[in-house]
Amino acid sequence: MDQTPLSRLQQQIQGTVIKPSDSKYDEHQKGWNGYFNNRPLAIITCKSSDDVVHAIRFINKESIPFSVKSGGHDYAGHSIIDDGIVIDLSGMKAIEVDPVKKTVRAEPGNRWADVDKATTKHGLATTGATVSTVGIAGFTLGGGSGYIARKAGLSVDNLITADVVLASGEKVRASEQQNRDLFWALRGGSGNFGIVTSFTYRLHEFPEEIMAGQIAFPFDQAHDVLQFYREFMDSASDNLTCYAFFLNVPPVDPFPENQHGKSALFLVLAHLGSHAEAEKELKPLMNLGNPMFTAVQSMPYSSAQTMFDAGMTKGNRWYSKAHYLDSLSDEAMKTVLKFTRSIPGAFSAVYLEPMGGMINRVDSSTTAFPHRNTAYGLHIFPGWADDSSDETAMKWAKDFFNEMKNHANGGVYVNLLGQDEEDRTPEAYGENYKRLVKLKKKWDPENLFRNNHNIVPGS
Ligand SMILES: Cc1cc2nc3c(=O)[nH]c(=O)nc-3n(C[C@H](O)[C@H](O)[C@H](O)COP(=O)(O)OP(=O)(O)OC[C@H]3O[C@@H](n4cnc5c(N)ncnc54)[C@H](O)[C@@H]3O)c2cc1C
Repeated sequence: MDQTPLSRLQQQIQGTVIKPSDSKYDEHQKGWNGYFNNRPLAIITCKSSDDVVHAIRFINKESIPFSVKSGGHDYAGHSIIDDGIVIDLSGMKAIEVDPVKKTVRAEPGNRWADVDKATTKHGLATTGATVSTVGIAGFTLGGGSGYIARKAGLSVDNLITADVVLASGEKVRASEQQNRDLFWALRGGSGNFGIVTSFTYRLHEFPEEIMAGQIAFPFDQAHDVLQFYREFMDSASDNLTCYAFFLNVPPVDPFPENQHGKSALFLVLAHLGSHAEAEKELKPLMNLGNPMFTAVQSMPYSSAQTMFDAGMTKGNRWYSKAHYLDSLSDEAMKTVLKFTRSIPGAFSAVYLEPMGGMINRVDSSTTAFPHRNTAYGLHIFPGWADDSSDETAMKWAKDFFNEMKNHANGGVYVNLLGQDEEDRTPEAYGENYKRLVKLKKKWDPENLFRNNHNIVPGS
């Protein structure tokens, strides 16, 4: 491409225009999902909202395809475009906690580890991802669930204001008081409505330490454990979130050698009540079956947030398929167990995430995120190291996903959509899709923000 406009842009911004020949290019060109190796023409690393305005004006003037990247954890590989321009916000990392008002303002380059570190110092937290390297921006704009969502609501339910650069390059604030329709659309509408340069979240008080950890069962106990889990979660308090994870047992201590590499069921939990409340509520789980490993203990909330970090490292190849389930029927359980008996890929995981609590007490039309009446999210995400396993891993996930269709409600979480062959964006928005299509016409009529799970402007 002609380098003159890029050189002009470089004169205008505090950040850097990184070209393929620059030494920093490789570091910025890679996202979390190593399946993709897209080669952008240039990466504009922004340092301020003014940089973002200049970047958007540049895109409009040059009519070049572009993508928006913050934490880079997109499963679908949208945030790093091939043969286009990346607007990279990972360097915008300002963060301010107001312990009196119980709010945190964070720029989009922050990851959940950064926000947790800043807020937990004050005994406060807001709903963040269960892997602390995930970026706050893509997470929040799609919905945002985690260990505390049943108690404190989704990330979108805790968003108070968002500062946005629109497709026109204009800066606006969205909140319940200003640009309410935009604020509604941002809370679930993913990257479709503008570039968010600052998020302000509500914070919640938490005990200094919570009970959290995991209980691992060999696969031959999975049926009984899952049956128990289903009944148990039906009456669980909002304080408790417990995921049912199927993973291949890592070949390390303390797992028994005869289980290494085999599929097993891990109950992964966090309880936000006092230790006494946690002990009482967790007792039936702690007495369940004959686990191969139990590690449920007192820890700071920020440590619970990192329990999975080690298994979810950047650079492996990943594929993602997901459903929402209205219930975990016997037939659904049977299908889950059929496909999790043997899981291809060393890093693969399948999990059931309980919804309920505060997530479901919010009406489906309150924010663009619509899935307020579901019981579980099911996420199938194989992870493997090299391309020779692409076909096996992806075929397994697709077959599993297809067989689960009859037990699912048709909805899907936009943040878990992968590099799919079919467009499931309408399913991600369900009953809110029509309103989003209209608002897209109002706020981004030319569909500038289209390198995403795209909502096409319409009426
Ligand atoms: C290991 C792992 C664990 C996860 N755990 C959870 C979890 O516990 N709960 C959960 O809800 N989700 C979880 N997710 C999904 C996660 O929410 C999405 O992958 C999310 O998109 C990541 O945000 P990011 O900023 O890192 O992504 P990016 O790749 O930077 O961005 C993803 C997309 O978001 C949009 N976007 C990014 N930044 C902006 C911005 N500033 N303004 C406007 N649009 C923007 C763009 O369309 C972009 O393509 C997990 C994902 C991974 C890979």
